[in-house]
Amino acid sequence: MVFDGKAVAAKVLQTLAAENAKLKERYGRVPCLSVLLVGEDYGSTRYVASCEKNAQRAGLECKVVRMAETSSEEEVTEAIRRLNEDSSVDGILVQMPLPKHISQERIVETILPDKDVDGVTDRNVSQLWKQRRNDYSRFCVPCTPRSVMRILEESEIDLDGLNTVVIGRSNIVGMPVSKLLMNENATVTVCHSHTKDLAAIVREADVVVAAIGKAKFVGAEMVRNGAVVVDVGINVDETTGKMCGDVDTEAVKDRCKMITPVPGGVGQLTICSLMENTMDCFKRLHNG
Ligand code: NAD
Repeated sequence: MVFDGKAVAAKVLQTLAAENAKLKERYGRVPCLSVLLVGEDYGSTRYVASCEKNAQRAGLECKVVRMAETSSEEEVTEAIRRLNEDSSVDGILVQMPLPKHISQERIVETILPDKDVDGVTDRNVSQLWKQRRNDYSRFCVPCTPRSVMRILEESEIDLDGLNTVVIGRSNIVGMPVSKLLMNENATVTVCHSHTKDLAAIVREADVVVAAIGKAKFVGAEMVRNGAVVVDVGINVDETTGKMCGDVDTEAVKDRCKMITPVPGGVGQLTICSLMENTMDCFKRLHNG
């Protein structure tokens, strides 16, 4: 089965729109996401445009704060401080990458953890590593890992006891995904660029999550029959110039129980998770 991200995303956004309409009745306004975009990176600009479009579909407000590429770290910090204090803003997303002269690490820590919709601040990271079950209502987990879990849930994959392999150990994808899988009682192996005989490890997996950033890295010889494959990668296929994932979908799909395509898979649900996280921040901020 090839996962239909577009259809599932449409369903999620529709549910969110209904919930946000109820929040408006109760609190007089809908949740508001603020996206801070520094510079004009092509991928970031496209992602922010998609945030605006999908916020509208989810019945949320989305305010984009655009700053020049040449903005100083102090100016960006000051913009975040204003958003932290603005009671009409419930969620803050600082679009990465930031220009090289700005420290990503320092900037992230200036976001108020209660408004941190991508779960990147120290407080949210530490809560993720302490929690024993996945309860998204208590604090924000990063959007992409939340979307990976949503895809597995929508595909009715019972993770309990399954052998899962996550390829990639970044703070924003690989590591949080591994913790969320563990909380569902999966057995988790995390592979990375120093892993020996990676293909043999991946071949044993019931569920593979690929978050590497290398076009079509996972080929048919790495995937066993009946495996579930979630492809997080966003790359450009050098031969065709088209977007592709970390998995060679065409070579692998016939042997998979379920596979997510690129485009049309994880990315579709990641934007939904951003909207869900914004709504959850709103609810926490209003209920204390
Ligand atoms: P990253 O560069 O921070 O991390 C990549 C990871 O892959 C590292 O941990 C590294 O050890 C591992 N890796 C690199 N080469 C490897 C190799 N040869 N063998 C095994 N492991 C290897 O990247 P990231 O931010 O985690 O993103 C990964 C991919 O997911 C990228 O393509 C990115 O564009 C994409 N992405 C997609 C979404 C989405 O919503 N769909 C969101 C975030 C990232």
